[in-house]
Amino acid sequence: MTTFSRKQPKSLLNPASGYLTGYSHTLNPYAGCQYGCSYCYVRKMPVALFRREPWGEWVDAKIGSAQLLAKELAKEKRKGPVTIFMSSSTDPYQPLEASEQITRSFLEAMVSDPPDFLFVQTRSPLVTRDIDLLLALKDRLRISMTVETDLESVRKAFTPSAPPVAGRLAALRKLAEAGLPTQAAVSPVLPSSPAFAEIVAGVTDRVCIDDFFMGDGSLGRRTETLGIRAIFEEMGFGDWYDRKRYLDIVSAFEAYLPPKRIKISQAGFLPDV
Ligand code: SF4
Repeated sequence: MTTFSRKQPKSLLNPASGYLTGYSHTLNPYAGCQYGCSYCYVRKMPVALFRREPWGEWVDAKIGSAQLLAKELAKEKRKGPVTIFMSSSTDPYQPLEASEQITRSFLEAMVSDPPDFLFVQTRSPLVTRDIDLLLALKDRLRISMTVETDLESVRKAFTPSAPPVAGRLAALRKLAEAGLPTQAAVSPVLPSSPAFAEIVAGVTDRVCIDDFFMGDGSLGRRTETLGIRAIFEEMGFGDWYDRKRYLDIVSAFEAYLPPKRIKISQAGFLPDV
């Protein structure tokens, strides 16, 4: 059972840091995330540590915030280029967004007064609902859809509450057909079938490959404390929990995409226009 609440935020645009230093700001329409992925290290951050409920079982919707975003956006744009990563500690298209429409209201604010670049990171096909607004930002936008595997058994073991893989692939296809810049984020690399690269390259022309060892901000130590190795081993995929395994995924994609469309780790999450 997820606990929902609505809260009025005091500020929205946060200075970006660490892995996201290529951006001026991060933007999170929600605190908390209904997906509660097993490997999500936000659960170890202050935003989650001070909550009674476990990570994945609470969400605060930042209500009434589009006007605040418009105000902050105008102010920050006066200071210099504004490049926004949405979102760094939640999924902007988690199920609650279907009714709350906070992410949509943020896009409306950004269509009226565009940032220099917007990166939308999600694992939800709900993003296709907003194609109309995303098209208005398409020259300064990338939509990145997490697709860590093509195997539903693996998706269910690591991220049981996340949307099925087929829906994400269909969403990537729909976004690309609408003329929007997309990528599949194979992040983190999870066990997949030999057909994985071909399937993903069939719906997007760019991929970012990242793993627990490069992308968790601590060379894999955070992931180790979350007990993720045990899930690999229980599934009989212990040999995939290896800091060189991503290279196999890179070479699989090389058969379908040109090298410049295959990004590794942080490079795939940087502003690119
Ligand atoms: S969707 Fe992202 S923010 Fe949400 S639980 Fe999964 S990894 Fe964490």
